[in-house]
Amino acid sequence: MALLNPLHGDSDRIKRELSILYEVSNAMRTTLKLNQIFYMILTALTSHEGLGFNRAMLFLVNEKENVLEGKMGIGPHSGEEADRIWKGIEREKLSLDDLLNSYDKFKKDVESKLNMLVKGIKLPLTEGMGILALTILEGMPFEITNDDAKQKVSHMVKNALNTEHFVTVPLKAKDKTLGAILVDNIFTKKPITKSDLRILTMFANHAGLAIENSRLYEETEYLSKTDWLTKLWNSGELHKRLTKELEKSRLGDQALSILMIDIDNFKPYNDSVGHQMGDEAMRKIASILSRKSRGNDFVARYGGEEFTIVMPNTPKKIAATIAERLKHDVEDAFSAEETTKTAPPLTISIGISTFPYDGSDKVTLIHKADIALYESKRQGKNKVCSYNPRMGRGIFGFGKKD
Ligand code: GH3
Ligand code: MG
Ligand code: MG
Repeated sequence: MALLNPLHGDSDRIKRELSILYEVSNAMRTTLKLNQIFYMILTALTSHEGLGFNRAMLFLVNEKENVLEGKMGIGPHSGEEADRIWKGIEREKLSLDDLLNSYDKFKKDVESKLNMLVKGIKLPLTEGMGILALTILEGMPFEITNDDAKQKVSHMVKNALNTEHFVTVPLKAKDKTLGAILVDNIFTKKPITKSDLRILTMFANHAGLAIENSRLYEETEYLSKTDWLTKLWNSGELHKRLTKELEKSRLGDQALSILMIDIDNFKPYNDSVGHQMGDEAMRKIASILSRKSRGNDFVARYGGEEFTIVMPNTPKKIAATIAERLKHDVEDAFSAEETTKTAPPLTISIGISTFPYDGSDKVTLIHKADIALYESKRQGKNKVCSYNPRMGRGIFGFGKKD
């Protein structure tokens, strides 16, 4: 029958392509995690059960910097590796569905060479920067086959990927181009056909929408965890994180320190320079705290003009040294400022408590750090104090700190 019907082969292929599209779209609906979506897109493009390209790479536009950034690449690095991976998949009888759902395994593997190469690519989005940039600027697919066209590939892409014949398609959501996909058949040298291009474009439209949804979700999730003014973590996140870190410290038998930080004389500062400049000062202090603390420290806005830093695996002495440095950094930053003419330069006071010596639960530790902060205020502000039991007496006698 197939011989009598020249369209039969075509319709089989179209059916297969539609079923791949259906399977991938369904899989993409099961997650909102951006990296997982990238993985599904690239797996569908490269697996034999999927579209079967040798390698696939995904790039996204960074609007702020006006550049195109490599995000993920899937595919073997050499012909031998390709053979090994593909035979392995066949042997294990992995279906497309199995592969789409194996992101955790991919994440645990040592970073593949291609993935590392792709993540190192950053191209300015200007004309003359090659085919990938053009895919974004024109919002249309490109196919690079002949030598003439190869001249138009940017050096960065050419050197990193060593690819000869490839296709790029834009990733679109509504009328915006979010990024691009690049696929090639570097090992099998199988020609990329018109019908490959058609299914790729259809596929990229689904992928673009899934990426946009996931980005919106991640952005909303991020906003719900951070403070809009300072961009630091908010107090809800602080409480969650502190609970988690205390548990880890307990299990690992490690110290954990908490810094409570309060801006000195902020009310008169606001009164003299105005609330907007006050906000600006808050941002500046927040930025110093997050830039000058260490990678594992968790910096949050506790509320009002108060900040908290959670320092895992940090004994009191080290916490005090870091606190002194932060205090100096803020003092230096404001003493050079213009506003000193109208208001005294801003400073901060800090109180420190440490697990397990000062308490073993969140509420007690925050309370003790607060008592130490109050002591810093009492000693004349622009100070760092670590909690000790003698401080506790009299805090309520002196009245509340603020
Ligand atoms: P102390 O040295 O004892 O801490 O005195 P203070 O003036 O800093 O403390 P007080 O509690 O009297 O005042 C805190 C001020 O912080 C009052 C409030 O207007 C200001 N503040 C709190 N949050 C913000 C904010 O988001 N933006 C601005 N501009 N000011 C804020
Ligand atoms: Mg204050
Ligand atoms: Mg206060």
